[in-house]
Amino acid sequence: MALIVQKYGGSSVADAESLKRVAKRIVETKRKGNDIAVVVSAMGDTTDDLIDQAMSLDSNPPAREMDMLMTAGERISMSLLAMAIHADGEHAYSFTGSQAGFMTDAQFGAAHIRAVKPKRVAHVLSNGKIAIIAGFQGINVDGDYTTLGRGGSDTSAVALAVALGADICEIYTDVDGIFTADPRIVPTARRIPTIGYDAILEMAACGSKVLALRCVEYAQRFSMPLHVRSSFSHRMGTLVVPDGIDARTLPNIDQ
Ligand code: ASP
Ligand code: MG
Repeated sequence: MALIVQKYGGSSVADAESLKRVAKRIVETKRKGNDIAVVVSAMGDTTDDLIDQAMSLDSNPPAREMDMLMTAGERISMSLLAMAIHADGEHAYSFTGSQAGFMTDAQFGAAHIRAVKPKRVAHVLSNGKIAIIAGFQGINVDGDYTTLGRGGSDTSAVALAVALGADICEIYTDVDGIFTADPRIVPTARRIPTIGYDAILEMAACGSKVLALRCVEYAQRFSMPLHVRSSFSHRMGTLVVPDGIDARTLPNIDQ
């Protein structure tokens, strides 16, 4: 039995159908005997839509109010996903970043995670239930909500995986892993089966948008294995692992 953190990006939870598909996948993995904590992004373009709405009212909105607004996107996806899982016969509890113990500094819009104390998440898992956590957000020492910067849910997922002592952090997206070039643009692009943190950081620095830079740095610092894969297929994606780890020993890779 493994402890798996799964992260689903906005394109994987864009509408009700997608939420059902993702819920099925979570339930399947759970019923294989794994403990699952799931980090979600906001549905589809929700975050962009919230920014547009804010800008239509105030071209220079206060950073605190902006973060209050932005954290709402992930609240929608996390609670709906918990309901979709409930409809599939499993118990899931959703948590905001602050409920899940994400403590950050005070930099609204680009906050850094200072500590993750996921007591409530761990409690839910120890009772055999599924935990759903809002990505991209935390709380500062003043008790105000903060966001981590665009694409920050990847970092939330890795930080949670580290704090829980997970065996692997799976990052679900709409392509089958990390490719030598963007497969949506370059048809001859090849999937990279396994890659080290340094190599992926070089790719990220070159502008490849597969993973948030900070998330890879965090994973490297704590040697957390990542599996970047598609939520639309069961194919193997790309394993980002520390040197010397035998990828075949990692959980949930032989589906
Ligand atoms: N929803 C946030 C964004 O669109 C966070 C994320 O997707 O990782 O930037
Ligand atoms: Mg997003």
